[in-house]
Amino acid sequence: MKTGTWYVCGFVVAFIYFYVYAVNYVRGEPALSGYNPGVPPWPTSGQEPRAQSRIQQAIHPKLSWQYHNYTSMTTFLRHVSTIYSNLTALYSIGQSVQGRELWVMVVSRSPYEHMIGKPNVKYVANMHGNEAVGRELMLHFILDLVQNYETDYYVRWLLDNTRIHIMPSMNPDGFEVASEGTCQGGQGRYNSRGFDLNRNFPDYFKQNNKRSQPETEAVKEWIGKIQFVLSGNIHGGAMVASYPFDNTPNSIFSSVVSAPSLTPDDDVFKHLAATYSLNHGRMYLGEPCKVGAPKFENGTTNGAAWYPLTGAMQDYNYIWHGCMEITLELSCCKYPPAAELTKFWEDNRISLLQFVGEAHKGVKGFVKDDSGISIEGASMKVKGRDVGFQTTKEGEFWRILLPGIYTMEVFAEGFQPREVQFAVIEQNPTLLNITLYGDNTNRVDLQVQPSNIDEEEQPLEEEEEEDQGSTIFGLPNPLTSIQNSMRSILNKIPVFG
Ligand SMILES: [Zn+2]
Repeated sequence: MKTGTWYVCGFVVAFIYFYVYAVNYVRGEPALSGYNPGVPPWPTSGQEPRAQSRIQQAIHPKLSWQYHNYTSMTTFLRHVSTIYSNLTALYSIGQSVQGRELWVMVVSRSPYEHMIGKPNVKYVANMHGNEAVGRELMLHFILDLVQNYETDYYVRWLLDNTRIHIMPSMNPDGFEVASEGTCQGGQGRYNSRGFDLNRNFPDYFKQNNKRSQPETEAVKEWIGKIQFVLSGNIHGGAMVASYPFDNTPNSIFSSVVSAPSLTPDDDVFKHLAATYSLNHGRMYLGEPCKVGAPKFENGTTNGAAWYPLTGAMQDYNYIWHGCMEITLELSCCKYPPAAELTKFWEDNRISLLQFVGEAHKGVKGFVKDDSGISIEGASMKVKGRDVGFQTTKEGEFWRILLPGIYTMEVFAEGFQPREVQFAVIEQNPTLLNITLYGDNTNRVDLQVQPSNIDEEEQPLEEEEEEDQGSTIFGLPNPLTSIQNSMRSILNKIPVFG
């Protein structure tokens, strides 16, 4: 062979060799278990190799259908927050008794900053450490949201208009001592000091004498800082969506039979629980988990009607912070074999997405003074629903309501109290901007309108003074006829000062 041909052959062989090497290097070894971020498994101790961290930027995360312990969960969350830094932010609200971080991943078009006027919602899973399905579903939910942002219209709309805070594990210490395949029992249920975290919150009906735990304190501080509109508390061991109250006032009957303990927002809570259940693969059937277990109509129940308990997280969210939380029991077996996880995901994906969207129903708006300055901490209440809520630092408020006509009561120190009537329709949340006047002023003013995501194309009526930022949210369903009928309803509503 000629020398030139040798050179060409040598070059081709070397090229193929380096190409194959590069492909293998990028793919890495498949992990035997746990989270495989798509690069060779990271060493369990020491620093991540530099070359791998560079390559990692280009690789989309995958998540195996297996349970992930604290280490692999942490690795996964960090990896996703690096790759999808435009849609996610990872933060910790504190530490468990044994020093594990209580991770929260916020998924949103604006992961690092609150979007004025747009709601915050949350999911908290694995509060009982041996109820493991929700923990894994949350990891897959995070991935599903970020990976479908570009292609799924609803997911994109959700992330553009909502900040979704996801805590895969509120009890990471408990999970570490729970074991796969154990359907019942309490091994891993409690935090590492033996406290049941869903009996550890301040209670509306009864004195809770349980010593408050670090995990509970962290959650209390968290929901005190961020005003969450809607929340799902994910458990296992049953198949039902349960809504407040979980506890009930003392009565001579309550120790004998469980009676419903209903909130003033019972219609809303029933709707929220049904939204989850009816979109679920099988929860709506209400089938009992085993012989003798209760059957739940529509797959929903009032918490106290099932069994009353003191110190539940959902009652605390609602009473103390105006956050509508329900408890989602997602698996009859608390810690089923990992082989069943894909089925759980299929059953729950739509429910998880639809439930979050419910934060965009009802009424929302701003409370400001007559010079347009936001009023923080104004106390608000929908008349006839004696559980109140407060405005945020920016004067924002949200309240989920079913269609109807309501009156909002607003109180703030140094201002005249106001009552404002408004209507809620099915399709879009109602935007209600309320102006409060100082104790010495007499003028009244009211702006109310259905919010409209296509505002720029359909300018609001001139007399409806509005700030741009507060009208761009809402469901993208600007049916003109509905808006016209809404306006005619609004024209008939008397205005109270
Ligand atoms: Zn539980």
